[in-house]
Amino acid sequence: MTEMIPAAKPIIGDEEREAVDRVLRSGMIAGGPEVAAFESEFSELVSGRHSIAVNSGTSALHMAFVAAGIKAGDEVIVPSFTFAATANSVVLAGGTPVFADIEQDYFNMDPKAAEAAITPRTRALMPVHLYGHPAAMREYKDIAARHNLLLFEDAAQAHAAALDDIPVGAWGVAASFSFYPTKNMTSGEGGMVTTPCDHIARKTKLLRNQGMEKRYENEIAGYNTRMTDIHAAIGRVQLKKLAGWTKQRQDNAKFLDDNLKGVVVPPVAPGATHVYHQYTIRVVDQDRDKFAEEIGKRGIGSGVYYPIPNHRLPSYGLTLDLPVTEQVAKQCLSLPVHPSLSQSDLEKIVEVINSVASAGA
Ligand SMILES: *Cc1c(COP(=O)(O)O)cnc(C)c1O
Repeated sequence: MTEMIPAAKPIIGDEEREAVDRVLRSGMIAGGPEVAAFESEFSELVSGRHSIAVNSGTSALHMAFVAAGIKAGDEVIVPSFTFAATANSVVLAGGTPVFADIEQDYFNMDPKAAEAAITPRTRALMPVHLYGHPAAMREYKDIAARHNLLLFEDAAQAHAAALDDIPVGAWGVAASFSFYPTKNMTSGEGGMVTTPCDHIARKTKLLRNQGMEKRYENEIAGYNTRMTDIHAAIGRVQLKKLAGWTKQRQDNAKFLDDNLKGVVVPPVAPGATHVYHQYTIRVVDQDRDKFAEEIGKRGIGSGVYYPIPNHRLPSYGLTLDLPVTEQVAKQCLSLPVHPSLSQSDLEKIVEVINSVASAGA
């Protein structure tokens, strides 16, 4: 059997194991010094904004919406071409997701489509920095200002991505990151809310901890969405390695850009720093699923993110006219780009893709 080059591969090493062991030996397992240190170290990645650690990226999105006052009757404009947690978190906060189309180059929500979706009930916009490519944040800041809307960011896939040297997570009124194992860095499970706003930061801290700042003097009805010190300790080790891994992802992507033929490789917008959570091509001349099967037979793992746009999932069941979303959902294919690829892995990916692309065209 050919050995498979996997589509994603979390890197966990001795340092992470030692960090977990240190926490277990300390006996301080819930919300202790590691969480506070992780938060302050993470803030350096987002231009010094407040960082509040929670137990998942989904919780980060949910807490951010509730903390910023999204409530029943509020519409939040989101892309349909994303992971289900994007829209689900709007629902969890009591709001209504309104799905806008994407543009096909960067796979991100199209600012024109988002603006056209605004109604008198619209409270907020939340673009997703999909695959690690920053959304069109200059345009979104402008739209949010003109229509008096809150601007959120789903940065779950985009740690250390930037636009015009401003990092993602430092554009909106709040942003959410995920540390799920396959993301660019992990804490096991985990998430982070970042915000420039003291009020949202404090409210997020209350919400994650039963509404308490002072023990047993609960101020509001909150959740338990705390991160443990075990997870934070893993996250701190990974955060130190993020810059090196990101550079490796970018170098891997450059090799693929320069050598792949017969498929549409992902362009990078002017001013954008892409961190390649996924390296996503479009297969336009043949059936994408057959293409994926064929490269799989020859040892190249791949993934389709996402085969069913959110609005058509059983959880929403909407019939909408989102032509670019529908087209891209049929064409997109994510290839391995993770930092553990060797030069010979990269060469094999190129050889297999180019041969399958030329055979099928
Ligand atoms: C992973 C992801 C989330 C959710 O993060 P979890 O940590 O898995 O809860 C939200 N949005 C996007 C775009 C994601 O990729």
